[in-house]
Amino acid sequence: MIPGPLRQHLRACRNIVVFTGAGISAESGIPTFRDRFEGLWAKYDPQEVATPQAFRANPQLVWDWHVYLADAIRQARPNAGHVAVARLAELAPRLIVITQNIDNLHQVAGSRDVLELHGNLFRLTAFVDADDLFVGDRSPIICPICDGYALDEECDHYASKEDLAAIELKAGPVPRCPGCRALLRPDIVWFGEPLAVDVLDAAWSATDTCDLLICIGSSLEVQPAASIPMRAKRNGASIIEINPKPTTLSLHADAFLQGKAAEVLPELIDEVWGSVL
Ligand code: NAD
Repeated sequence: MIPGPLRQHLRACRNIVVFTGAGISAESGIPTFRDRFEGLWAKYDPQEVATPQAFRANPQLVWDWHVYLADAIRQARPNAGHVAVARLAELAPRLIVITQNIDNLHQVAGSRDVLELHGNLFRLTAFVDADDLFVGDRSPIICPICDGYALDEECDHYASKEDLAAIELKAGPVPRCPGCRALLRPDIVWFGEPLAVDVLDAAWSATDTCDLLICIGSSLEVQPAASIPMRAKRNGASIIEINPKPTTLSLHADAFLQGKAAEVLPELIDEVWGSVL
């Protein structure tokens, strides 16, 4: 699978980034958003429902759509690809996972250093409606419970972050922050929203300092995430890509391993790092 000299070189790498997209979860039964729609939900395009504008217009519809998505993803278990990533972290001196996925499966598989570029579906945060800020004569403050904007007198300081963490994405009315009463939403990056600055900065830093990047199951069409593998390459990192279909990265990779993550990644790890065990 990997020629001898490259194998030696990969094994000597000290800082590994594993960059993943929806493809790594495909064998856990999580297809793309578009593929999964059935019945009532077939008529909703994610690009129209997963937006701040849609939530502002109809919070309950958007909440219900995410409940449907979460119920499906909750059934999924990590596959051999997720497990192999967690195992590689035990073999390599340093490994950071940068994922575009929101499904939490890397963490369930045992990966600890995971940067979730697009957030996590199972965490909630306040919906901050920029249109409502700075109106009237009261300045918004940051709610200590949800970190969203609140008006001081609306904030219940007896509420705690634990109260917020106990609220789940499940069927029912859209919940509110127990502190400031703001509507809650899944803590994921919706279409048209910027990525969290701290997560993106950490991802750039890992990208700029890694000596090996393994890109798994991403079509590399969603920016800014899509620029991560080539940025690592420009900084001197070796690149391995795993995908059943070639992408714009494939020709630039030191090795393009065509196939499914759950099959190819465990083989790659056995071949390159197996003797480290
Ligand atoms: P994407 O743009 O990441 O493309 C999926 C890629 O995975 C394609 O290149 C495809 O060839 C490849 N692939 C398919 N099966 C694979 C397998 N078994 N092993 C390895 N690679 C495989 O994904 P998208 O669906 O176009 O998503 C766009 C955005 O939505 C991204 O942010 C994505 O992460 C997110 N999304 C996340 C999830 C999730 O959390 N599981 C699911 C769907 C979409």
